[in-house]
Amino acid sequence: MQLEDVLTSLQVIELPLRSKFRGLTKREVALFKGNIGWAEFSPFIEYGDQESKNWLKSAVEAATVKFSKNRDKVLVNGTIPDTDDEREIAKLIELYRGVTVFKVKVGNNLQSELIRLARVRKYAPNAKLRIDVNGAWSVQDAVLNIRAIYGEVAGTFLEYVEQPVATINESIELKAKLGIDVKIAVDEVLRKSNAPLELDLSEAADVLVLKVAPLGGIAKALEISERHRLPVVVSSALESAVGITHGLRLAAALPDLQYASGLATGKLFSEDVAQHEIKDGYLRVVTPEIDEERLARFKVSKERLEWWRERIKRVWEVAR
Ligand SMILES: [Mg+2]
Repeated sequence: MQLEDVLTSLQVIELPLRSKFRGLTKREVALFKGNIGWAEFSPFIEYGDQESKNWLKSAVEAATVKFSKNRDKVLVNGTIPDTDDEREIAKLIELYRGVTVFKVKVGNNLQSELIRLARVRKYAPNAKLRIDVNGAWSVQDAVLNIRAIYGEVAGTFLEYVEQPVATINESIELKAKLGIDVKIAVDEVLRKSNAPLELDLSEAADVLVLKVAPLGGIAKALEISERHRLPVVVSSALESAVGITHGLRLAAALPDLQYASGLATGKLFSEDVAQHEIKDGYLRVVTPEIDEERLARFKVSKERLEWWRERIKRVWEVAR
């Protein structure tokens, strides 16, 4: 695929979010078409060209390469953003009907997070919980906070803690000090690394979070999974339904998939260009039809389109 092909079919849209996520109320994404269909390039606006390089590789792969499937449907988790509003939490859980695992954002304020988790427990009493800290805690805080969350609200419903601390060494130290049987997952440690294949995660992690776009595509994510020999969780990077489709293809291509995938984040959008419907807690591995009317309706301004064209040209050079 040539840069010209990307730019010719390029559509940039802005999708409205249902609740604030990552401080955003809208999500801008670029879509383009290759010989097998639509692909999404959507590094967050603040990401530099270097960090966006893998996202473009993944998008080009999505537009041009087919992968074999080991499964036709993928179990998914619900995602609860950092809100404590009981009605909002109840409504989100209702939207995720049939889902039996929830990932809850934490890492800012333990007291309010205990309330948030208790509310998720109240509306989904049998669901497993995952918490995502985005590396915000020190080792000492992580020990205290994980023990509090485990002891006061989650107990054995706590499936794992995602990126509780920022580095591999801190993760090793945390695992040695924690004293309770709680699994640790790594996300940023992997996707922000320049050499994810060379990391030694053997004593630092129990679970790998694989996000197809920041890791550079399905082929690369499969290679990373094979290298580290740990159970994996496929997750989204808040993509539109087009990007989610590529995440589903990764989930389908993996030889082993024990955990629910974080690919139901489409529910965080109030509207999207296509729909992946959750049925009995699963998403089917399909490529949904793009709604042309919505593509037109959510189109960004000429200035924003120009900004994305220039970004893609620069990132293309970096990715070559
Ligand atoms: Mg994460």
